[in-house]
Amino acid sequence: MDMRVFDLFKIGVGPSSSHTVGPMLAARRFLLECPELFKVSKVQVALYGSLALTGHGHATDKAVLLGLMGETPQDVIPDTIEDKLTALASSGSMNLLGEYPVKFDMMDDLLWHKQEVLPGHPNGMRFTLTRNDGTSCDQVFYSTGGGFISTEAELLQSASTDNDNTTSSLPFPFGTMAELLAHGQRSGLSIATMLRANEVTHCSDAELDTGVDKIWAVMKGCISRGLQISGELPGGLHVKRRAAKLWRSANESADVLPHDGMHKVSLYAMAVNEENAAGGRVVTAPTNGAAGIIPAVLRYYAEDCKPSNPEVGIRNFLLVASAIGMLCKKNASISGAEIGCQGEVGVACAMAAAGLTAALGGTNEQIESAAEIGIEHHLGMTCDPIGGLVQIPCIERNGMGAVKAITAASLALRSDGTHHVSLDQVIETMRQTGADMQTKYKETSLGGLAVHVITVNHAAC
Ligand code: SF4
Repeated sequence: MDMRVFDLFKIGVGPSSSHTVGPMLAARRFLLECPELFKVSKVQVALYGSLALTGHGHATDKAVLLGLMGETPQDVIPDTIEDKLTALASSGSMNLLGEYPVKFDMMDDLLWHKQEVLPGHPNGMRFTLTRNDGTSCDQVFYSTGGGFISTEAELLQSASTDNDNTTSSLPFPFGTMAELLAHGQRSGLSIATMLRANEVTHCSDAELDTGVDKIWAVMKGCISRGLQISGELPGGLHVKRRAAKLWRSANESADVLPHDGMHKVSLYAMAVNEENAAGGRVVTAPTNGAAGIIPAVLRYYAEDCKPSNPEVGIRNFLLVASAIGMLCKKNASISGAEIGCQGEVGVACAMAAAGLTAALGGTNEQIESAAEIGIEHHLGMTCDPIGGLVQIPCIERNGMGAVKAITAASLALRSDGTHHVSLDQVIETMRQTGADMQTKYKETSLGGLAVHVITVNHAAC
């Protein structure tokens, strides 16, 4: 398995990693790989399946346009996005990769195929470019969750090579938790140490630490902004941001309740997901829709657990969390469009539970147990965002996921590490449950809350 910690944790923008970050990356990559852009006379983008069904609410159209203009999720400045799109709408043209002018008609050149799904994944898109000499270039991309993208060929290739550890150059190659635990038993090393050893085959120790510290800094900043900003979220549902108001009242209240600590953890997570819903700067963890859980549990660790060496603990937390995310991505999915919300909030909960257990000194077996508990109690969770927006149930769901992660870590840390269900078994159960789940519950907004809570926005779709 060739995945890195920074594949799981990517700095980007909201509201969705699969529907915003992935499409933006795909649009830009399509152009970078097409020669002779100076001859382009037309560019067309077609969205399929879940991207077409929930793309308006998830800002897929905006993401694709920004990607064609050369923007990246990491570097685009959220406050400048609306101005760029307004300029495109009024001029009817854009500069591909910021350089090559082409006319772009939002009706003719951006197509929504809601009834059609491409064969590789529910989140498919086709890019086509025509040159003024009559030649053309086209490519299909899939956005497979968490900001990962693949062409058709790459998807087939990864399916055929993913289970082959024999050619890996990593010191601790693993494709299952059983393999990772076996490495630990043989070497006597912790999961965090083994992950670090794998990572430093790509970069130095110092570069790894700098990168991981930056991820935490962006997560922390996102919580802080979310705890300060009030108002209404975009998208037409008129959802009010609650984290800042509840945070103020929690801090001003004279009454101290036993569960105040957990209340604050929920607010950290909701603060991040409100920022995400507003199109702000967030880190995929492992997705945008589930981006609040890991930062919330990390802040709980850093502030409430009073660690003696928080810097090391936070790095270990994120390394171990990434190992769980890698296993879920490889052996099931982290895409709500593929397996429902169990693959987003459920996986984030497992990652946070494992990370917290590691940071608090848990054994490898206790880490496995915590991660397994985290997923087990999200099995079957559907993805049914109201109005196709990453707001209801997503924001509160992150608050709940963060609290469950702490409970999972606590149960594991107070046990001797033996447990009945293995992480590999529960990941396979999640995969099969997702395969059996009806399409209407997989990020299509055709079932669940999305149809039982009628909104002006939804009725108009
Ligand atoms: S319901 Fe879950 S999977 Fe679906 S958009 Fe919301 S957070 Fe993502």
